Amino acid sequence: RAASLDRSTRGSNTTLNSDEDNINVVIRIRPMNDKEKSCGEKQILEFPGKGQVICHTDAPGQKSKVFSYNVVFEPAATQEDVLEYCGIKRLLEMAVEGFSCTAFCYGQTGSGKTHTLTGPPGLVESGASPYSPEHGLVVRSFVYLFRLIQERPESHFILKASFLEIYNEKVIDLLNPGTARKPLQVRWSKDSRSFYVENLFTVDCEELDDLFAVLEEGMRNRSVGSHAMNAHSSRSHTVLSVRVRRELRADASVTCATHGKINFVDLAGSEMTKRTQSTGKTLEEANNINRSLMVLGYCIAQLSDGKKRGHIPYRDSKLTKLLADSLAGNGVTLMIACIAPTKSNISETINTLRYAARAKKIKSKPIVKMDARDALILSLKREVDVLHAENQHL
Ligand code: ADP
Ligand code: MG
Repeated sequence: RAASLDRSTRGSNTTLNSDEDNINVVIRIRPMNDKEKSCGEKQILEFPGKGQVICHTDAPGQKSKVFSYNVVFEPAATQEDVLEYCGIKRLLEMAVEGFSCTAFCYGQTGSGKTHTLTGPPGLVESGASPYSPEHGLVVRSFVYLFRLIQERPESHFILKASFLEIYNEKVIDLLNPGTARKPLQVRWSKDSRSFYVENLFTVDCEELDDLFAVLEEGMRNRSVGSHAMNAHSSRSHTVLSVRVRRELRADASVTCATHGKINFVDLAGSEMTKRTQSTGKTLEEANNINRSLMVLGYCIAQLSDGKKRGHIPYRDSKLTKLLADSLAGNGVTLMIACIAPTKSNISETINTLRYAARAKKIKSKPIVKMDARDALILSLKREVDVLHAENQHL
């Protein structure tokens, strides 16, 4: 825990404040489980602080590998530590201001993605109190979001939540399980200049309990679906989205609205990309074992390589279409890369550490999302204010 919380690491967590950075990358290492302990497994990771992870490969002739990130959460870090230091609070503040934000967990199956987002298995479904210390980032974020709203009584907020799953490139509404038989379509909206899921059930959330109910219902439906199919959760992605419409009075006669969003994404196990690639097909031909995860990898690789900008294949998978506006353009992204501490997981751990290091290079400047009409009104109003100010100086 010390490395994740030392002063220098806390300090580096503020890099998102630069308006150049739109991605924050943190690492979370889960504790050894009972099985690993009883087998006498060795811990191969070291955390010297300053956002670094050292991976001791132990192989003859191979040096230890050093990786750097914004923050590293050691196995003893609590769910509360993750909320405080991973950077999610800034994303939520930005969602309230009208940005599109995404927090996603990446890592091999069993590395702690679901634990980080929603806590130990069954906790949410059991209807545990929202203030249980075991709750993950999603419930904690809901609580923080409502605090932010209460601190802004001058604005009127409308929150709408949805919860979907992408399995085998099919979009299933976790709030409407009937869609498992008739998957939903992802379409482009000219008005909002972003992709959306047609006929997705959205729930108006006036109170904190409404958001919890959405999470609980979706998690229940997901676990029902997964009984039918082994290893279902390691192959599918879930996306829980909260849209935040904020109406604020520019002056007595004009009201403007911003449209922010926060997505929480629990990705399929990262070991799935290899299975996709092992088919030997090109990106266009790749079968759907996990096209979305593979395309996300391509998008991140290209976004992080400044020279290749302009050819980012968001349109090549359902997931990247839905995350496009936060990955580039008008959003901010938090990547939580989850890893296991033991030697038996070393090759997946190194893959995850590399993927996360690549994502950290992405740079772009987020912009607020507003209706075109509102943006025009606001810019005209600003001009009028400037003219007024100039007049007063004359
Ligand atoms: P994933 O979603 O990546 O497949 P899980 O989140 O289901 O992995 O984690 C696998 C198991 O390890 C679960 O029983 C989970 O509760 C436990 N676990 C994961 N991370 C932690 C942690 N930080 N502290 C305690 N237990 C954890
Ligand atoms: Mg999981």
